Amino acid sequence: MTLEPLYSIDVTCYNCEHKFTSSRVRPSYKKAIRTDSDFCSYYKNENPDFYVVRVCPECGFASTENSLERLNDTQKKDFREKIGNRWIKRDFGGKRNWDVALETYKLALLCAQTIGDTERIVASILHHISWLHRYKGDELQERRFLTYCLESYIRVYELEGVGANNARLLYLIGELNRRIGEFTNAVKWFARVINDKNIIDSAMIRASREQWAVLREQMIAKQMELPGEMNPA
Ligand SMILES: [Zn+2]
Repeated sequence: MTLEPLYSIDVTCYNCEHKFTSSRVRPSYKKAIRTDSDFCSYYKNENPDFYVVRVCPECGFASTENSLERLNDTQKKDFREKIGNRWIKRDFGGKRNWDVALETYKLALLCAQTIGDTERIVASILHHISWLHRYKGDELQERRFLTYCLESYIRVYELEGVGANNARLLYLIGELNRRIGEFTNAVKWFARVINDKNIIDSAMIRASREQWAVLREQMIAKQMELPGEMNPA
């Protein structure tokens, strides 16, 4: 017997405490068939990323597993004024296609910005929105959201600095710079991951070296002058 890829989980709304169900993809179906250098993943069946955002059908509050778990009175008021008052009841609990997934991410972005959720949450939502556009081959929109996402990751870096766990963040800042064509900035960020002795995340060091090599080829192809550190010693 094969199980359906989707199952339901119970969620309690962080804003109005209404209980509702949201779908998720079973772990056995979560294996990606391939993953891009910025962790955008592709799946044969249901895409688990389509189900990251939970939307309360009662009030419209949209959040993820990592969102703030409790709203204070000011946040509730801000949400009500900006989104809740205009919400037309709608259930996002079932199967989602691309368009519905995009709607849930845009709603989650609006909610996160309205209540002032952490910059990491905002960056992650922006990154997912750009991936959705990549799945469709819409390069213009993908790039637009990658640019917002990059700005947001840089704010995370400015808030948190180079912590022990931030190699992935530095790598992503380098890789998004490369993807939007900011090659000189990309060099700087990859170099930090590769050269900072405090960074011990070997997977991210390896990834930075690989993308550094890709970037070098791109710069040579464009006949750009290579920064000194990129020339072979
Ligand atoms: Zn609610």
